Amino acid sequence: MSTNKFDIIIAGGGLSGLSLAWNLAKGGYEGEVLVIDSTFAPQNTKTWCFWDKADPPFPEIIFKKWKKTYFSALDFEGFLYMNKYSYYCIRQSDFKEFVLTELKKRKNFTLLEENVLDFSSNKNKAALVTKNSDTYLADYIFQSIFKPEVDRESKYPLVQHFLGFEIKTTIPVFDPATITLMDFDESFEGGVAFMYVLPFKGNRALIEYTVFSQEPLKSKKEYRSKIRTYLKEKYNLEKEDYEVKRKEYGEIPMEDQKYPATYSSKVINLGTMGGFTKPSTGYTFKRVQNYVKILSESLIKGKEPVLPAGSEFRYRYYDLLILHILSNSDKESLKVFRDLFKNNTLDDVFDFLSENTSILEDLKIMSSVPSIPFIKAIGKNLKVK
Ligand SMILES: Cc1cc2nc3c(=O)[nH]c(=O)nc-3n(C[C@H](O)[C@H](O)[C@H](O)COP(=O)(O)OP(=O)(O)OC[C@H]3O[C@@H](n4cnc5c(N)ncnc54)[C@H](O)[C@@H]3O)c2cc1C
Repeated sequence: MSTNKFDIIIAGGGLSGLSLAWNLAKGGYEGEVLVIDSTFAPQNTKTWCFWDKADPPFPEIIFKKWKKTYFSALDFEGFLYMNKYSYYCIRQSDFKEFVLTELKKRKNFTLLEENVLDFSSNKNKAALVTKNSDTYLADYIFQSIFKPEVDRESKYPLVQHFLGFEIKTTIPVFDPATITLMDFDESFEGGVAFMYVLPFKGNRALIEYTVFSQEPLKSKKEYRSKIRTYLKEKYNLEKEDYEVKRKEYGEIPMEDQKYPATYSSKVINLGTMGGFTKPSTGYTFKRVQNYVKILSESLIKGKEPVLPAGSEFRYRYYDLLILHILSNSDKESLKVFRDLFKNNTLDDVFDFLSENTSILEDLKIMSSVPSIPFIKAIGKNLKVK
């Protein structure tokens, strides 16, 4: 058993933990930082995508960017274009290697592979205990490992679950300039399902079957079979025409409750555990980057850390309404998605999903989709915290 003291502990060296460490290192933070994770070994189990304007985070490791998408829902299909925005992709393996290489050069950053057991704090210090019963103390701990206690259960506890194949085909069949953001599967019952395609080259793409529902599918075979059928129907690819290079499975919570900023007084929540996952979409990457930028600036200036503020009430309310619709009617959900993409530019949709709109712009988006499901959703959610 040992005790060690640091200025800051970053518990969880995944997306949010390493993003914070990177911003601190790049901003010239001089305090002692411990970054702790069960493993820093390279992993390639996630592909992070996000939309952004001209200056995306981590420009050095952007794997691919696109300006055009295919979209299909019910009787509407077509190509949609981004003007202000681009859609970017960063591979988890590139991200980890890039950030860890930089941190290893810094004398004030310590990387430790250990399993974290728990945190505690009093008004002066925060403590982290490992499974080996070692204790590490700091002024603040930033954690992305444990889910904090929330005030109430989620009203609509949906999960975004998906399985993807990254494939290499024998002949080029993909248009590398065009992603498929959503190609809805109307045959799916018990939730909303769509195919998501990221073409990296003419002969290489990630094809993901994604579902918004209460439970993941019973077996991985069901996702696999959907992908194989799609590859056959959409690209005329038989099983022997492609090789699966990598698989990606994920479950992202789509919860409507507000996460607390702190786990205990000096332990601050980051990433998914900090409620940074947008409930209605599952996108997290850019929201994490926005927060760690202002958080690291406050720490570098020697100020109290800026706590995560959460989304504005109106955006949380829109998310709640969307989750209500997704939970109650697959048909109405599909119509909402169809009209959202049919009646708005992609830039407007991304502004709205980035929570970067005026109330007037919100009203424009709201009036572009069927009103009945929203009226029903409001009727069921007149009182919210
Ligand atoms: C497959 C997948 C794909 C995704 N794609 C996108 C996307 O395209 N765009 C987007 O915006 N969001 C995406 N997300 C959602 C979200 O961005 C990711 O889940 C992201 O990794 C969340 O960041 P985080 O820091 O909260 O958690 P993580 O990145 O998971 O980091 C948590 C870290 O804690 C460590 N850890 C856990 N338990 C312990 C313990 N007891 N002791 C020590 N260490 C521990 C883990 O090893 C991990 O490194 C995706 C999620 C998944 C699962």
